[in-house]
Amino acid sequence: METDLTVNAPKDVTYLDYNATAPLRPEVLAAMVPVLQTVGNASSQHVYGLTAANHVETARRRVADLLGCSPGELVFTAGATEANNLALHATYRGHRIVVGASEHPAILETANARATENTTIVPIGRYGAIDLTALSDTLAGGSVDVVSVMAANNETGVLSDLPVVIELAHAAGAVVHTDATQLVGKLPVDLTELDVDLLSLSAHKFGGPQGVGALFVRRSLRLATRPLLYGGGHERGWRAGTANVAGIVGMGAAALEAKSRIRTETQHSQRLRDRLEQSLLNVIHGSRVNGSTEHRLPGVTSITFAEAPADAVLAAMPTVAASDGSACHSGALGPSHVLLAMGLSRSEAESTIRFSLGYATTDADIDHAIQAVPKAVEFVRTALHGTSQRMLA
Ligand code: PMP
Repeated sequence: METDLTVNAPKDVTYLDYNATAPLRPEVLAAMVPVLQTVGNASSQHVYGLTAANHVETARRRVADLLGCSPGELVFTAGATEANNLALHATYRGHRIVVGASEHPAILETANARATENTTIVPIGRYGAIDLTALSDTLAGGSVDVVSVMAANNETGVLSDLPVVIELAHAAGAVVHTDATQLVGKLPVDLTELDVDLLSLSAHKFGGPQGVGALFVRRSLRLATRPLLYGGGHERGWRAGTANVAGIVGMGAAALEAKSRIRTETQHSQRLRDRLEQSLLNVIHGSRVNGSTEHRLPGVTSITFAEAPADAVLAAMPTVAASDGSACHSGALGPSHVLLAMGLSRSEAESTIRFSLGYATTDADIDHAIQAVPKAVEFVRTALHGTSQRMLA
């Protein structure tokens, strides 16, 4: 089945914003429609309820299978923002929360709200990964309840060295949470190998529907149930509220697809990303990739085009849907905190575009971007600095 990205968008707009949200996989839509057409509250005891509950548990097994955990270790939520909030809520005991400087606001703002005086932000290095020496120094101070370090950054795609983070945190007696929202479904995750205690994920980043996610809570942690939402005791008391059956089914279907295709999709995304990146770097002078080009997600590149403000470049190429900074911060003013933490100047950060692609991206999409982006950068530079600026390398 082919994904038609043009259903709700003009035909000629190339979608390169998968890190904001990936298109729904056709198999996911096919799995969700019959569920949406059927009545059933997964908590009801009659046949409709039992059927709905069955769907939820099948989906739970599929997501567990993608992660290498047991189904009973998953709590379904309304997305990764909620999973991140729940993770910090459940693990913070009034001592200290330690987070990386490049975390998503769903972690930074939560830590700040919950533990205003007790949050330590660990710097990241210029290649975008958490500074392990600084983390180790921070942990040496003791009394840390939870360390939360993202698996992959949403703006640069840079991967954290999670095994080392986990080892350091555990040695200091802290629980470890990772926001794996951008990693899950794009690179393999195996929770039998990765000794993290809690992990957040979100369906819409790997071809599932928006508004559904999960928090993995390792059983051996024996964490006391501490919900954010009280009510009917759903999700073993972890998350009250009628189950979003169709959404959860969609997440399960996305997990199934992602698992069976992860190798080919990784290669596909990486090849297209590299082609786009190489071409833009070759053609546009004063362009540079941010973060490690070695340890990063396959489908994303963050490129600074010097002297070309990203908002103007994006406006100059309406047929390419990419992002300045990240759509998760839409409405937020100011340059990306991630890029600033990596040492970029304010004007460099403001001249940075994130291109992110995935399973349904085609060579034609990349061909289009390769044509459109240099023209837009040239247009903006010329408008701002006059024609004397030489654009083509
Ligand atoms: N964490 C990261 C790293 C993300 O990229 C996002 C989504 N932009 C979130 C958390 C929030 O996820 P959700 O949209 O499911 O609330």
